[in-house]
Amino acid sequence: MKIHVGNGIAIEPYQNNGQPGYLCMPLVRNIPEGKVGWKKVKCQICGSECWERPEQKQLLKENNNMIACCTKCAIEKVTIRDGVTIRGG
Ligand SMILES: [Zn+2]
Repeated sequence: MKIHVGNGIAIEPYQNNGQPGYLCMPLVRNIPEGKVGWKKVKCQICGSECWERPEQKQLLKENNNMIACCTKCAIEKVTIRDGVTIRGG
């Protein structure tokens, strides 16, 4: 599965290979209504309001190297650090 988020950037499934990954939380300003079960939280990096999805708690528990943050921060981090979860495509 590959999710295109614009600007030629696509998000691919996280590979648990020891490198840090970023779990994207959708921004409230992009999806104002959210979905059933989503909880409004603040991005721990930039403080933007974003949505915590029910499945992400389990993902974070299984992947110690994963940090939950908003989509914008995830894209910025990976652009700077050449991470594994997001790359231009
Ligand atoms: Zn953020």
